[in-house]
Amino acid sequence: MRALIKSIIDFIFPPICYICGSPFDSEGEMGICPHCLSQIKYIECPFCTLCGKPFYSEVVTDHLCGDCLTRKRYFSKARAVGYYDGVLRKATHLLKYKLKNHLALHLGNIMAQQMQYLLNGIAYHSIIPVPLHPERLRERGFNQALFLARSVSEKHKIPLDGYTLTRNRWTDPQVGLSERDREDNVRGAFLIIERDKVTDRNILLVDDVYTSGNTVEECSKTLIKAGASRVDVLTLARVA
Ligand SMILES: [Zn+2]
Ligand SMILES: [Zn+2]
Repeated sequence: MRALIKSIIDFIFPPICYICGSPFDSEGEMGICPHCLSQIKYIECPFCTLCGKPFYSEVVTDHLCGDCLTRKRYFSKARAVGYYDGVLRKATHLLKYKLKNHLALHLGNIMAQQMQYLLNGIAYHSIIPVPLHPERLRERGFNQALFLARSVSEKHKIPLDGYTLTRNRWTDPQVGLSERDREDNVRGAFLIIERDKVTDRNILLVDDVYTSGNTVEECSKTLIKAGASRVDVLTLARVA
């Protein structure tokens, strides 16, 4: 009976794709239609083995990018599902400015599916989302990184820890800042609440977008300095 009612409702009010606005036949509560899903530009080899930056060269083997050759990295591996472009750009924008629960769940599931391939089955003790400043959290009402991290945590049965890493000061949005200013902007911005939750642990840090990498780098540095054995980074999208 419930299935019948649902199909009648779906017939009268078919689910709409968050990205293109077209009605589509969804079995569950999916937020992105199959056509838009097929348009996601996944990041594939070759890319930098450390920060995940995609290479456009014909060289087929993965190697380190110029940035990773010249600067110290605190994370062991950063990987992103796809390019910050088209579908994922629109999706992360929707997530950040008007969170859609189903969309967050759907995107988190895509991250969870890709995680095995991207991170080669490393055993993590916990998943930590990149935190928002409490004031921004109040303003926005939610942390989109936490929603994505929750899906990955549930799918892979890795404990979610949205408490241990926090921001201890306000930072300007990274958009529009020079590379140097981005680094200065986030330096010392994060704090560990409970060292025991970090010491000798493999941690997976989750965020929505990898832009310059300065935010996840500063989080990784804070975690490693607090005794973490390893920090890897997983984001939904990456600015190439
Ligand atoms: Zn669509
Ligand atoms: Zn790199």
